[in-house]
Amino acid sequence: MQGSKRPNTPRTVATKPIVVPCPGCRQPSRYGPQNPWRPFCSERCRSLDLGAWASEAYRVPAQSPPDGRTADDAPVDPRH
Ligand SMILES: [Zn+2]
Repeated sequence: MQGSKRPNTPRTVATKPIVVPCPGCRQPSRYGPQNPWRPFCSERCRSLDLGAWASEAYRVPAQSPPDGRTADDAPVDPRH
């Protein structure tokens, strides 16, 4: 009984990990399903970048007040 049962070498589908530079820290981060924070290298970088992006986005439409501080930041002076 000769089956053509040769050890079927699984095709090496060149699955070399895709590495991309982390947008947060510029370190090489693995871009793959095992990296839930891709293209970032870690959750930290992801949150950092999102935070930066958010503040950047918020900064655009906001016109800086003449005195350079936001009204929300400065509590009303009770002695005024
Ligand atoms: Zn990073």
